[in-house]
Amino acid sequence: MISQQHGQATDSQQLHSALKQTFGFDQFRPGQEQTISQLLNGQSSLAIFPTGSGKSLCYQLPALHLPYLTLVVSPLLALMKDQLAFLASKGIKAASIDSTLKGNEAQEVMAGVRSGDIKVLMVSVERFKNERFRQFIESVPVSMLVVDEAHCISEWGHNFRPDYLKLPSYCRALNIPLVLLLTATATRKVKLDMAAKFAISHEHIVQTGFYRANLDLSVIPVTELSVTEVNKGEPRKNQLLSDIIHQQQGAGIVYVTLQHSAESVAQYLTQQGINACAYHAGFDSDTRSQIQQDFMDNKVQVIVATIAFGMGIDKSDIRFVIHYDLPKSIENYSQEIGRAGRDGQPSYCFTLANLDGLTTVENFVYGDTPEYAGIEMLLNSIKDEVITNAYANDAQGSPEGKWELQILPLSNAVNIKQLPLKTLLVQLELAGVIEPQYAYFADFKIKLLKPKDEILNSFNSQRKDFLQRVFNATDFKKVWGSLNFETLLQDKSIDRNRVIAALEYLQEQQLIVLETRGMTEVFNVNLNELADPSLCQTLSDYFKDNEEKEIKRIATLVRFFELDSCLTVNLARYFDDRQFDDKQFDARQLGQQQTTNTKSTPKCGHCSVCRGQVAVLEHSQTNIAWPSDEALQQAITALSERLEGKINQPLSLESYCRFFAGMTVPLFGRNKVRQLPGFGLCEQQRYQAIREKLQSLNLDL
Ligand SMILES: [Zn+2]
Repeated sequence: MISQQHGQATDSQQLHSALKQTFGFDQFRPGQEQTISQLLNGQSSLAIFPTGSGKSLCYQLPALHLPYLTLVVSPLLALMKDQLAFLASKGIKAASIDSTLKGNEAQEVMAGVRSGDIKVLMVSVERFKNERFRQFIESVPVSMLVVDEAHCISEWGHNFRPDYLKLPSYCRALNIPLVLLLTATATRKVKLDMAAKFAISHEHIVQTGFYRANLDLSVIPVTELSVTEVNKGEPRKNQLLSDIIHQQQGAGIVYVTLQHSAESVAQYLTQQGINACAYHAGFDSDTRSQIQQDFMDNKVQVIVATIAFGMGIDKSDIRFVIHYDLPKSIENYSQEIGRAGRDGQPSYCFTLANLDGLTTVENFVYGDTPEYAGIEMLLNSIKDEVITNAYANDAQGSPEGKWELQILPLSNAVNIKQLPLKTLLVQLELAGVIEPQYAYFADFKIKLLKPKDEILNSFNSQRKDFLQRVFNATDFKKVWGSLNFETLLQDKSIDRNRVIAALEYLQEQQLIVLETRGMTEVFNVNLNELADPSLCQTLSDYFKDNEEKEIKRIATLVRFFELDSCLTVNLARYFDDRQFDDKQFDARQLGQQQTTNTKSTPKCGHCSVCRGQVAVLEHSQTNIAWPSDEALQQAITALSERLEGKINQPLSLESYCRFFAGMTVPLFGRNKVRQLPGFGLCEQQRYQAIREKLQSLNLDL
């Protein structure tokens, strides 16, 4: 017992000295030490810390002590680059494999990983679909898988990415013994869902308090002037924004939804004598880093940014965050206000709230739901294209077949946008209809850097013979040659993986340049499950449910800003921080007046609702006029003419709704439907209203 305690003390000392020596910090932030100790004890963990409270350190420090590679899955290239820059500044060898690498860079990274020189490798989840990458990662030992922004795994999350659902099976297939999930925001449901998917036990979930006593939250309802009045004067919201900023001290961020409003608002603020600058993803990376640096150095007081800003910003003295438009979700809101006041000093968060723009957000949700007919078309196309192998049965004896797809042509063929199509495929996987086998590139292009004979003669006769056959199956044009796998693999003694390994080797030796294209995914199909007559309806219902869930999420967001009880307390509860429900909570600890009514929701004393201001959100414009029935009919005729002969069945009501709401689908994109004058004719109307309108017209659809 004594020795164990002694051991733990030493561990803690060792961790602290590693923290000091490598990272230069004297103290762990809350939750870090527990998470790191768990990982070094071989216990997979889930860490939920607010933005900017040092989540990344939880993998960076253990990575140095684990014997093999730490593989980090990150959803955003910008996040990867920030973390790589940080690791480089601490002298830790880390790299990423991503689409920005050129020439031999990926090879160099792989060589570095193989030799153990690189301890941390960052990739996107999509990288796992790459056969070459999977072959590589299977060939090196991995100590730990880290999933950043792990809430993407949960279908209950606000940022669900279908490919993340496959991470647990990759992790098992690659035999990675240890997992760390990192996220800033997770509701209770999302948290338990994530832990279950990676078999993380409840005691290894580390969640730090969500509540920030130094953040003052205000919701200020404001509507724009009507369109005709706008020309006479500045939008009311701009004046309000400028008034608020004039009352603030120190640096601040104004969040807007659209890139062009970032620029126009920044320009307005500058005219009002405020030192402001726009920032959005449309700027090139040099400009963006310059703006970030100016903000860090206090050369710019206010940044007017889309949500692209702030990911890599570690500025502790941001005194105010203003949402000029409603944030995308409560999760986004909490992350964005979380950038204020990291130094613990009082900081102010304002939301200028109205219902404008919500129609567009809602319409995008409706526009993404695949139509029943599209799902049916997909299932039929699997049935038509499946290559049945009468002898292959799965364990239960059900007949199986093989199906191959390339996402872009399939998306066009079934008229479902790529993201919902990917979700649909993941649902088919989860229903046991299809099972991913592998992915490969349909097209291998080879450029010889040395004469063919010279390359061949540098190998022994057996290898030379093998390469000769690969080259014989390659159709060489002037510069590039296309490898025809079908011809090559007719020789059953040749293994595809060996071919790829050989080509990779030639590239490493700088004898050839290899380019791959046409990502093709191969699935096993369970024909019994595919034949299930209720399958199409089940899938369609799944998307309808999701649609409803998304619409509800938008409503929850509006409800949050219209709350009549403390915003701070509700926000904490939303993220399963129950400290306000604890009897220990006493508002006096926060230097506020204690509430006398103990039965009602506790009060933080530093939000607009606690100050007695309950917000009611409104549309700036109500009763937006409909185009005339005649105009609608004309637009419908023009659309039918444009699609004449291009579609097999009449266009559905849903497609007309999307057309009038200005939502594009693959069919529209392909046939340049956006150019028709009727496209988006009703974009200011709600989707449901458009549907009702079209139904009421009794049009001949
Ligand atoms: Zn409050």
